[in-house]
Amino acid sequence: MSVYNEKIMLANGIEMPQLGLGVYKMTNPEETVEAITYAIKAGYRAIDTATVYENEKETGEAIRHSGLQREDLFITSKVWNTDQGYDQTLRAFETSLEKLGLDYLDLYLTHWPVKESYVETYRAIERLYDEKLIRATGVSNHHAHHLEKVLVKANTPPMVNQIEVHPRLTQEPLRTFCKEHNIAVTSWSPLARGGLLSEPTLQNIGNKYGKTAAQVIIRWHLQSDLIVIPKSVTPERISENINVADFELTLSDKHAIDALNLNERSGSNPEDF
Ligand code: NDP
Repeated sequence: MSVYNEKIMLANGIEMPQLGLGVYKMTNPEETVEAITYAIKAGYRAIDTATVYENEKETGEAIRHSGLQREDLFITSKVWNTDQGYDQTLRAFETSLEKLGLDYLDLYLTHWPVKESYVETYRAIERLYDEKLIRATGVSNHHAHHLEKVLVKANTPPMVNQIEVHPRLTQEPLRTFCKEHNIAVTSWSPLARGGLLSEPTLQNIGNKYGKTAAQVIIRWHLQSDLIVIPKSVTPERISENINVADFELTLSDKHAIDALNLNERSGSNPEDF
């Protein structure tokens, strides 16, 4: 095992593990606690949950089982669409903290830019930051025009934007916008939900290094300065996905993967909210 443990520095100087575990669709409580516990043992130090995943309680349980110090883990959650608005977001955050059994989060995000409420939602996230209840602020699924509206109102600009990114949806213009505004980008559905794993370009590159297509994709995210949060409940895959520190894609491998882009989403379009 060659565990990847690099960190990315966010705009406020906080360090965030560049590779973490996504926990969307982990719905079986026992399986969820086991998968997260396994992942932490395997070396994961960041967990990406959300109110709507309905597993904040299990995430908290796994954190307590880990025996690690709280400050050794980086925990992200997100405010769901029906909880958006200033006061509602503050209340939703309280509930998330309670379910997780924590007294602060490392990062809290607006899950989707719900028209009419996403700017106020972010203002509440800023307040949580001012009150030191979160170590970093952010948003998810925000396009440049959403970010522009948030940035006009914000005293503390968002430090992270979590968006769908994988080799079929490389999002280069939005990533450039984020870079110009010092907003780190996290890739969700980084493996296109498993849909890209038999892609011949990725398999051929993997064969050169004795690595799987999943590991090649994860390496592509990491070498593109993206934060990446692959999800798996399967122990072998959880290990496989973090076992990526011992090889490096060449520039030509990276370009070949960039060229797989078809601007093809596997999830929803943020414009529909
Ligand atoms: P991923 O791209 O991470 O793919 C997950 C799927 O791939 C699962 O079916 C998993 O199966 C399978 N898989 C994982 N690793 C491997 C492997 N090495 N080999 C073969 N199959 C593998 O999709 P997600 O949609 O889960 O995205 C990751 C995370 O991003 C989420 O869990 C969530 O935290 C976040 N997210 C955020 C969103 C947002 O709106 N902000 C939206 C969607 C996701 P199995 O588990 O059965 O092993």
